[in-house]
Amino acid sequence: MRSRAAIGIVACEILGFQRSYIVHLSCRILLLVFLLTGLTACERGPKDHQQTLLVFGTLLDIKAYTDKPGEFETAVGDLEQTFQKMHREWHAWKGEGELVRLNRAIAQGDAMRVSPELADLLRQARDHAQLSDHLFNPAIGRLVALWGFHSDEPPGGPPPDANKIAALIEQAPAMSQLVFEDGQIQSSNRTVALDLGAFAKGYALNRAIRRLRAFGIDNAIVNAGGDLCVSGRHGERPWAIGIRHPQGEGVIASVDVADGECVLTSGNYERYRKHEGIRYAHIIDPRSGYPVKHVTSTTVISRDGGLADAAATALSVAGPQQWHKIAAQMGLVDVMLVDENGTVHVSPQMRQRIEFQQSIDRVLVSAPLQPQP
Ligand code: AMP
Ligand code: MG
Repeated sequence: MRSRAAIGIVACEILGFQRSYIVHLSCRILLLVFLLTGLTACERGPKDHQQTLLVFGTLLDIKAYTDKPGEFETAVGDLEQTFQKMHREWHAWKGEGELVRLNRAIAQGDAMRVSPELADLLRQARDHAQLSDHLFNPAIGRLVALWGFHSDEPPGGPPPDANKIAALIEQAPAMSQLVFEDGQIQSSNRTVALDLGAFAKGYALNRAIRRLRAFGIDNAIVNAGGDLCVSGRHGERPWAIGIRHPQGEGVIASVDVADGECVLTSGNYERYRKHEGIRYAHIIDPRSGYPVKHVTSTTVISRDGGLADAAATALSVAGPQQWHKIAAQMGLVDVMLVDENGTVHVSPQMRQRIEFQQSIDRVLVSAPLQPQP
């Protein structure tokens, strides 16, 4: 813009018309035209656009760096519809969506025809469960409900009856008991109750990025309460984000997120039941039936949002002793875990890319995790 204005001034001076008032005026008009066209050119460049939706019971923040505000607007409208539908159809305990109906069919020992998308979602969840040694186990919906987490309000009161927990553990519901046949799903175990709370958000965020790309929005960040996927870059720089501190205030670390990556964090501070000063987290160890204790948060970065989400939950269950083994099985590379003492356990690959924003007493860097071929 400045150079266009300069060109305008230079043009007038070269023509030697400065002394004439009329010419002087026309020079000013010329200058104004140059300035305005320069301004318009600037406005045409990419800019930040942002919209917030209330979906999945959380605020979904969609940010794009684009010169297509119209397309962004349309894409956000499309995303809102898609997310509301996913919320309705995949809710574990509310309404009459596909998952609620499937859980009912399973409890009755029936098969049910499901949409190709739900079948795909459940197949992926089954595979992640297997790789996590079933520490990520979305078949434990009955346990989650027993602990009171199938409710909008945080549950209160003492923990559930130990015998009831033991009875559900005895029945050992698992994703491997699902049978997929001719577009139908059934389960060999009627106590399987599907709860996609640990997985669907990551899957949906990944899908949102793909959807934005379909509308020509190639540089974006879709953020649901700190869980996010990105595409492209923010102009000259990659997208930079902060990972929330699980115990204190603010951000524990910042990280640059590359095109197509997702960052998912599972924290037992997010939802919990509190009784006599003890917090019972919403992440349940499927082996014992009790909430996890040793981990306060786990962050996973992966190009597969669903995998990152499932893994963040699984590694929270695995805890400081077993997280590395499970992460390797799940093909992860970038993992950070904060335990109940505030010690940070981190893979060397993740350590290299994060920047701590607070002083950390103890950081334990693990052996490298091998990237998948
Ligand atoms: P996230 O915040 O992704 O760790 O997901 C936690 C939610 O997943 C809980 O609120 C439960 O609905 C469900 N959940 C709890 N424990 C598990 C588990 N071990 N495997 C799979 N889903 C779980
Ligand atoms: Mg999860």
